[in-house]
Amino acid sequence: MEAAYRENFEQLEQMLNTQGGKYNLELIKKAYECCVAAHKGQLRSSKEEFYMHPFNVAKIVISLGMDSQSIAAALLHDTVEDTEITLEYINKEFGEEVALIVDGVTKLGKINYSSKEQLQAENLRKMLIAMAKDIRVIIIKLADRLHNMRTIDAVPDYKQREKSLETLEVFAPIAHRLGIRQIKEELEDLSIKHLDPVAYSEIEELLKIKKGERQQLLENIQEKISSRLKEVIPDVNVSIQARIKSIHGIYRKMYVQNRDFDEIYDIYALRIITDTVADCYNILGLMHELFRPLPGRFKDYISMPKPNRYQSLHTTVIGREAVPFEIQIRTFEMHHTAEYGIAAHWKYKEGIETRNETMESQLSWVRQILENQAENGDSSEIISTIKVDLNQEDVFAVTPKGDVINLPAGSTVIDFAFAIHSAVGVKMMGAKVNGRIVPINHVVKTGEVIEILTTNQAGHGPGRDWVNIAVTNQAKTKIRAWFKRERRTENIESGKAALEAEFRRNSIVLPDDAMREFLEDLAAKQRFSSVEDFYAAIGYGGVSVTKIMPRVKDDYSKIIKSSKPEPLQIKTVERRNNSGSVVVDGLHDCLFKFSKCCAPLPGDEIIGFITRGHGVSIHKRDCNNVPVDLSTASEPGRWVTAHWGKNIQTTSFVSTLRVLGVDRDGFLADITTMLYNMHVSLHAVNARPTKDGNSIIVVTLSAENVEHLKSIITHMEKIHGVFSVDRINQ
Ligand code: MN
Repeated sequence: MEAAYRENFEQLEQMLNTQGGKYNLELIKKAYECCVAAHKGQLRSSKEEFYMHPFNVAKIVISLGMDSQSIAAALLHDTVEDTEITLEYINKEFGEEVALIVDGVTKLGKINYSSKEQLQAENLRKMLIAMAKDIRVIIIKLADRLHNMRTIDAVPDYKQREKSLETLEVFAPIAHRLGIRQIKEELEDLSIKHLDPVAYSEIEELLKIKKGERQQLLENIQEKISSRLKEVIPDVNVSIQARIKSIHGIYRKMYVQNRDFDEIYDIYALRIITDTVADCYNILGLMHELFRPLPGRFKDYISMPKPNRYQSLHTTVIGREAVPFEIQIRTFEMHHTAEYGIAAHWKYKEGIETRNETMESQLSWVRQILENQAENGDSSEIISTIKVDLNQEDVFAVTPKGDVINLPAGSTVIDFAFAIHSAVGVKMMGAKVNGRIVPINHVVKTGEVIEILTTNQAGHGPGRDWVNIAVTNQAKTKIRAWFKRERRTENIESGKAALEAEFRRNSIVLPDDAMREFLEDLAAKQRFSSVEDFYAAIGYGGVSVTKIMPRVKDDYSKIIKSSKPEPLQIKTVERRNNSGSVVVDGLHDCLFKFSKCCAPLPGDEIIGFITRGHGVSIHKRDCNNVPVDLSTASEPGRWVTAHWGKNIQTTSFVSTLRVLGVDRDGFLADITTMLYNMHVSLHAVNARPTKDGNSIIVVTLSAENVEHLKSIITHMEKIHGVFSVDRINQ
């Protein structure tokens, strides 16, 4: 090693010695050498050798009291991204733990923190914590950011502001949540320094002036406290420190809460640190005897710790000089936690070497921090409260550009695509996760880099089953919207079919007109302007048929009840001849009758036969009694062209159907019930068994026209056991 490198390593060794505790020096030295060698020749913006960056990050990590693995990972944190060193190499040379941490830090480095999305900062914070399976990844990332902020003067102005903003919005709040006050305050101060340099230097100046003014005062008070404590509790171990509020803290009170510098009571505070909690309360009592407490300024964070585990007693008192000042009282352990937060976990551990089984408890602490935060709703927080269950509620994945997409757990790549933009979703034809093609139902996991493959091919759109695969409402809504827009004809068809199938299943049968009315009513009730729109909505999944069926059935039974048809009766019907019903060419107001042989119905093709003395007899054109070729008829002149008039007043024309089916119990009853439900009147029913064990039922009924009869036949054919239904001529 060159002299400079050796000297720097000696610095590390010295720091490790002052920390006390057992370190794996061999591992750290090897990492240091690897770092120096790997970054050889690379320079930072400040023109200093690049390895000085990981070296300084490692120093911060050591100062936080982290373990050997973290220190090694800090030294190696930029190697995988920026040098020839691979993760496999680190795994082989430094072990799995170090490799996992380096991998985590590398992944976090790929995220685009500067996105201008409004919610991005909050997402990022959540993601960072969620992604770091090992909380040491976050601690190294914070140390990395801290060193970059300390040396930010070397980068261009616009970049300084960009980095400062994301530090303030993303990294400082994380440091705060993890309770690492040291890093949090320095990050905030450095950010403010570059975001609002004028205010920063103004506060700096004010602090300098006031410090001079207050120096004597504070020293007096400190002296007074010290002698009082020695007098009353001489055996208790006490340390008294003066503390100055951070510039960012003052900045917030001045510019966010709009207070005057002199109105901020806790710019200077005295901190009394002792051994036990009992001592803390004891000392508090003594302080309130010594000075007059300001009402409403006492806070007991010992019995009610802050969400990040901060514990202390805070009280503001007024001395003889009438200047209010804050006193903070806490134990040494609380003090340590306040300074180092989650990092204190490592420091308090015997021997400092950590094992993997402790990771779970550390993570559960982070989880607790986040949960408490949401419950307590600490109003002093800048950031709005959030609740993240790291295991269940949220996953975070990244686009190839580094934008973070936050999705509920269980979401698929379809949800991911629609979360980016609906235009991406509808054009999606596949997805790559971490560079590999995955099926469309791939469930997104935190930390995955997902690339959505799209096509601009005309007519391409989401698959119909996507609605069922997608998890988020956003995706489902957008997929449905697409189908609604793009596939109207198909939607109407498939919606109609789906509804009809459901009607069949529920035996909802109505004559055509009644059915049309029923459907129109139904569509209106569902707030559709037409039955077609209603069908379309069913088709694209906007309306669930199964969901609306209970109400439909209710409506249906109401109709059936209200329009109860006359009880079933067999009757012979007088056929009335209405002059408006049939028009016979060349004859005005002629007397006519419908022939019994074929019983024509409105809609049938008909023909007239001029009888002797009985007017015109109307037959179906295909009646057996009508010659196929009229020119061969014996009296061709008597056959006249006839067609149906516009004014058919007769509502019932008699028709006869022959039903062939199984000979089973209730067969006849099923047929008559169906006709009853369709409000069809019966004139005659005749059932007889056939030789081969089936049965033939001949039904004479009233039908309005050919369409109506067809509908009756269709319904009949659906009755269980029916083989065929034919219209017969008598
Ligand atoms: Mn770095």
